[in-house]
Amino acid sequence: AAPEEVDVNEVVERAVRWVSQSAAGKFAVDIDLPPGLRCRGSSGQLQQVAMNLVQNACDATAGQADAQLLVTGQVADGKLELRFLDNGPGIPEANLAQLFEPFFTTKPVGQGTGLGLSISYGIAERHGGHLRAANRPEGGAEFTLTLPVESC
Ligand code: ADP
Ligand code: MG
Repeated sequence: AAPEEVDVNEVVERAVRWVSQSAAGKFAVDIDLPPGLRCRGSSGQLQQVAMNLVQNACDATAGQADAQLLVTGQVADGKLELRFLDNGPGIPEANLAQLFEPFFTTKPVGQGTGLGLSISYGIAERHGGHLRAANRPEGGAEFTLTLPVESC
């Protein structure tokens, strides 16, 4: 598809709405983004990335009474960094290297394909950006999606 101007705020909001509607339990989401974030690319593909990151955070925190996701964004050096921070159990050190491999999943059969992060990684790269995973010092996982910014 030809690149289009993508409204990043809308992409994140839609992903959160989508996942929250189907979330079984309590899942508190806080979106803290500067207004008017734009990048060039496929809004459909970036929507897929955001949805997968939000769904993963929801899955990781399922059953926690205090399940939380925070989405933050900052622009620096022509790059937009979107962070998805949850307060789930985080990612075992041994899994960090395999997360983005196709079919890597720790979810029960039928509940995860293990394709989400692999596809998301490819989408980020094709947009001239990057996707990386880390554990937060205070616990929980942190995914950072970096995209070249169009205007802000
Ligand atoms: P799936 O969601 O189908 O398992 P993904 O590629 O989206 O596939 O994720 C792969 C694996 O990465 C998950 O099964 C899980 O083990 C781990 N993972 C992804 N997001 C998180 C997260 N927010 N917290 C902890 N582990 C995560
Ligand atoms: Mg997933």
